[in-house]
Amino acid sequence: MLLCSSSGLDPFSFSPHPVLRRFALAPRSSHLHVSCSPIGQFPAFCSPIVTDVYSLNFTIRTETTESFPGNNQATMLSIPDLIKKKRDGNALSDEDIQFFLQAVVENNIQEAQTGAMLMAIFTKGMVATETMALTKAMKLSGEVLSWPEEWAGLVVDKHSTGGVGDKVSLVLAPALAACGLKVPMISGRGLSHTGGTLDKLESIPGFNVSQPFPKLRSILAEVGCVIVGQTVSLVPADRILYALRDATSTVESLPLITGSIISKKAAESLNSLVLDVKFGRSAICKDLASAKALGESLVTAGNNLGMKTRAVFTHMSNPIGRCIGNSVEVIESLETLKGKGPSDLMELVSTLGGVLLVMTGKVSSLSEGGRLITESVTGGAALAKFQAMMVAQGVSNENAQSLCSAQADYHSILRRADHQTELRTHTQGVVMEIDGLVLAEVLHQLGAGRTNAGEPINHSVGAELLVSLGESVNKGRPWLRIHFESPALTPDQTSRLEGALTLGGSGDKPLRGSLIEEMIPPM
Ligand code: URA
Repeated sequence: MLLCSSSGLDPFSFSPHPVLRRFALAPRSSHLHVSCSPIGQFPAFCSPIVTDVYSLNFTIRTETTESFPGNNQATMLSIPDLIKKKRDGNALSDEDIQFFLQAVVENNIQEAQTGAMLMAIFTKGMVATETMALTKAMKLSGEVLSWPEEWAGLVVDKHSTGGVGDKVSLVLAPALAACGLKVPMISGRGLSHTGGTLDKLESIPGFNVSQPFPKLRSILAEVGCVIVGQTVSLVPADRILYALRDATSTVESLPLITGSIISKKAAESLNSLVLDVKFGRSAICKDLASAKALGESLVTAGNNLGMKTRAVFTHMSNPIGRCIGNSVEVIESLETLKGKGPSDLMELVSTLGGVLLVMTGKVSSLSEGGRLITESVTGGAALAKFQAMMVAQGVSNENAQSLCSAQADYHSILRRADHQTELRTHTQGVVMEIDGLVLAEVLHQLGAGRTNAGEPINHSVGAELLVSLGESVNKGRPWLRIHFESPALTPDQTSRLEGALTLGGSGDKPLRGSLIEEMIPPM
């Protein structure tokens, strides 16, 4: 029996032999137990340090530690064997998954092999233990943030599966900070028809969404909330896998989505996480059943990784609030923080915030939590936090103050698109539905969104709804204002936008009640 202690740079990581590379999987504090017997020839491709070990026939048993699940199962599969194992519908062991991910992060695998494994996972799925191992190994592929002890129990975040006009984060993060929580909100950019919080914030001149960790921590200490993008050191496995999932049409996989979302939240070392899982025409999940499958998978993985996790299932067909786009949504968020927000947006903010206040033990009921959040918005405390966050993240004092003032001239700071046009109703009737997906798709074509990661967008392009659900309107009434740049809207875009509005007869009423359908676990 040979006992080796692994520390520092591990030469096994670079070995071309899969079994040797398994040494590199061990956490730095663990021991590898190797039982061995000589087998003769040293393969020429091994470096001297590795050759000594590779000349032995061995099995590896990795002692379990807190950082890796390890199942003590000796496996000696190569990457092609692992792909075959999954391809044939078998469950991968914790070690298999760690090995695969390590190869991905260290670039010891061909892209074709990663793509093949992703497709095997996509088609065969994963059992709960595999999804857990994947999520945990993804989390541990990079830096894991840590917070001062005095914040124990207070560090929270919200994640939304994406919607149209979804500006909840811009109001919720400062509202939670005003209620005494710490909110390191790591957000994303818009892709396809859904908007991204980072794009919205970047329409404010100077707002910097990349903050080094020490700065992020100091903003949290001083302000209580910070909204930033993914850093290169946090969950590097996700960055690589997500790009390949995009390229191999394997995005819509429950275990892969779960691993991707929960690993990033777990690497933030959150105490509590609330998930806004949207369903409906303008959401990724088109119905409640698929949203629940996703929500349950996310909640299980989050709880298993030590974060209190809850999912709230919310309707997403009509746009949230009245504005869709980047700078127009910032304006609507500021108006909301000044107590003049639309009721649907405020319902989402107060519910999601209320859930987090219950989860952190700040209050004992959802109604009390919702009330505290609402008061922080209507009383101006959340606005003050938003102003402080803007300044801490690079906006000039003067601009932040001006945007937060009662009579703000928003467009003196946020660029207005060169052109505006209003669409008018063709008949009279009651506003029954406004198809958020169609509006978002046309705005995307006009430059408000991107098709591929990294593409520039136009922050000024957007739309404002000029009517509300349930409102009676006459023929010729302006119902939508589009902010656009040249070239002008095409006839096809105009006709698609016109088709997004459904008017009913004079006695009709839209179905819409509460946006909140249910939550797991129930509250
Ligand atoms: N958001 C993520 O971060 N990852 C996914 O896989 C899907 C949505």
